[in-house]
Amino acid sequence: MDSDYAIIGGGVVGLSVAWGLLKRGLRVTVLDGDDGSFRASRGNFGLVWVQSKGMNQPRYAQWSQSSAAAWADFSDELTDATGHAVGLEQKGGYDLHFSEESLEATVAKYETLKARLGGDYPYEVLGHNALRKEEPEIGPKVVGAILHHQDGHANPLKLLRALSDDVRRLGGIILNGKHVVDVKKRDLFHVQCADGSEIRARKTILSAGLGAMELGPKLGFKAPIRPQRGQVLITEKMPKIINRPSLIARQVDEGGIQIGATNEEVGLDDRVTQPGLSGLAAEAIAAYPILGRAQLVRSWGALRILSPDGLPIYQESPEMPGAYLVTCHSGITLAAAHARFLPDWLEGTAAAPDLEVFSEARFS
Ligand SMILES: Cc1cc2nc3c(=O)[nH]c(=O)nc-3n(C[C@H](O)[C@H](O)[C@H](O)COP(=O)(O)OP(=O)(O)OC[C@H]3O[C@@H](n4cnc5c(N)ncnc54)[C@H](O)[C@@H]3O)c2cc1C
Repeated sequence: MDSDYAIIGGGVVGLSVAWGLLKRGLRVTVLDGDDGSFRASRGNFGLVWVQSKGMNQPRYAQWSQSSAAAWADFSDELTDATGHAVGLEQKGGYDLHFSEESLEATVAKYETLKARLGGDYPYEVLGHNALRKEEPEIGPKVVGAILHHQDGHANPLKLLRALSDDVRRLGGIILNGKHVVDVKKRDLFHVQCADGSEIRARKTILSAGLGAMELGPKLGFKAPIRPQRGQVLITEKMPKIINRPSLIARQVDEGGIQIGATNEEVGLDDRVTQPGLSGLAAEAIAAYPILGRAQLVRSWGALRILSPDGLPIYQESPEMPGAYLVTCHSGITLAAAHARFLPDWLEGTAAAPDLEVFSEARFS
């Protein structure tokens, strides 16, 4: 039987949208590429993060806030259905600062954004001593932190597993090793794979991460995305030493400390480098000196998927109505919005969120 939706790309973005569509009773087939693909969903930092998002575009801050607010319910539903907890913890997160100047400059920007959001931006500034009460292992070089109460983190690999299990349980089809090479529109969309097979569907979603750089223009999108490398480290499992996550380090649900991530413009190169990893380690030890004694067990590099302004892209193709580009820089944070709210936009219901600022019109 033909699908209502063919979703190209089975990372966290494609699977979150697939899950939301299946929950509405739609038929969904997900086509995911081969093992040589870049897969941000398997290499990220796991933050469900609001602070610092949308400094120049409050709608992005709101979209992230609405997703963060929907996350607990989304995670409960996934866990109830699959038995897999996804490690969600939402008790706030820190932006740590090593100088008063940088702390003050960031607070000034947050105040501007807070005003543009009508006051809905719950954060507080903690000086060193107040922070130390919350985080006894914080080092003397940290002058203070911004504690944003809408922030949190989850386990991205457990999220992927829960999503793929539940997509299948709900009747969705996930086809692995299906590299899509082209899409034609006749009465239906014909999604053509490198192995010669074809899937037909009423609508199609391009959520192929960096794969959209090549496929996007074939479907009538600009898809002006680029890779940005992030290197990451993880330590052995440790007793509880970090209570809340920050952009520098977080203690994952299994006990290890994840340290990250670099921001490097190196094209399609996801290797780790000695300067990258030692820079991360030095910053983490400056924040939490106890980490100087931790054993590192793993490091990796992964590629972010970035638009020119860092905002998501949600666009229906002008050349192929019924084809949508869905891509973003923060697919873990936005997983709940993609599952809960994006289906209304895709189906054009009265409850569709206003996503106009995220269209490709901003790149013309
Ligand atoms: C180091 C790092 C840290 C990050 N930290 C965070 C964080 O803390 N919080 C957060 O919210 N986000 C974070 N992110 C971003 C987040 O990981 C991504 O936004 C998210 O994983 C993107 O998911 P995706 O499904 O769009 O892409 P991907 O995970 O890259 O998946 C794309 C999928 O498409 C498939 N594909 C590609 N081309 C084709 C094709 N032609 N045919 C079929 N399939 C195809 C691939 O096989 C792949 O499985 C981080 C990213 C990195 C790299």
